[in-house]
Amino acid sequence: GSRFHPPLCSIVVPCFNEEAVIGKTHGRLMGILCEQTSWSFEIIYVDDGSHDRTLKLLQEFHRVESQVRVLILSRNFGHQIAVTAGLEHASGDVVVIIDADLQDPPETIGQMLEQWHQGVDVVYGVRLERAGETVYKRWSAKLFYRLVNMLSGTAIPLDTGDFRLMDRQVVQALLSMPERDRFVRGMVAWTGFRQKPIFYKRAARASGRTKYSLKKMLRLAVDGLLSFSRTPLRLSMWLGFMASGLALVGIAYATILRLLTQQWVAGWTLLFIGIMFLGGLQLLMLGLIGEYVGRIYNEVKGRPLYFIRERLGFAENPKSSDTAEVVTPSRQ
Ligand code: UDP
Ligand code: MG
Repeated sequence: GSRFHPPLCSIVVPCFNEEAVIGKTHGRLMGILCEQTSWSFEIIYVDDGSHDRTLKLLQEFHRVESQVRVLILSRNFGHQIAVTAGLEHASGDVVVIIDADLQDPPETIGQMLEQWHQGVDVVYGVRLERAGETVYKRWSAKLFYRLVNMLSGTAIPLDTGDFRLMDRQVVQALLSMPERDRFVRGMVAWTGFRQKPIFYKRAARASGRTKYSLKKMLRLAVDGLLSFSRTPLRLSMWLGFMASGLALVGIAYATILRLLTQQWVAGWTLLFIGIMFLGGLQLLMLGLIGEYVGRIYNEVKGRPLYFIRERLGFAENPKSSDTAEVVTPSRQ
């Protein structure tokens, strides 16, 4: 920011059917942000194709508060895309991504801003504790992060979500990465810069239910794995070596048996198991390659990441409240 204005902090909040909680979230956010007197703020709510009253509420926030901007996507594009849309429209010197359900405590933003003052470019939230989440979700998350790190060259910090503060430089770096299957937390880790964790207790969802269906979660997990690692592609090579080794041992065994005892190795059971085993492996590997090919296809199509139905409160929107202050002198 310039020396004469307080720096601007953009808060990006992706929202999908959050009518149960968004009012509370907005209240908490406004409360916290008002305390930060040395900063100016904008809150960018991204409506990710909600079909409940979320959008109505967001429009209301925008009407009342000049710092609120609303980005209305043309349909549900998913959390990671919604976040990306928000980032593309943020103009802050720093940008904070936060969930709409108050699982990420807005109070942490103050500490993040302090870290930024000390020269940290990315302050990412690390969950110390996950209240109100099922054992299944906790374990699957744990397993997932360990697996990604084992397979990928990019060290993605454990137990991190998308709750984070990023310097403008990092946001620009991120936006210059045009990939379509976006795993934002991994991409941020990949950009480098000075990154530091900040620890917080992940609260239970304040209201409403998780908007991550099992399908969306799996999709995210696969994105995380495949976008950051080519190791799975090498898997077939190792399995191939192993199968060939096994076959060599089998050949040696059969030959020796035949020479020494005049017997053949008996049994079509073994044969059948062998065929099933190898057939299974081959199909598995084909599927894996297919996943990568699908991603390539997706990239090659080069479709836009999302479409916007409407923007509220952004400078280029003539109806917005903040452009009212910068009306160009009328030509008479
Ligand atoms: N979200 C979104 N689009 C989606 C799914 C989720 O914008 O398709 C938002 C949601 O409103 C919330 C955040 O992403 O602000 C995280 O979702 P959620 O809390 O349901 O996920 P969980 O915390 O259960 O992993
Ligand atoms: Mg949540």
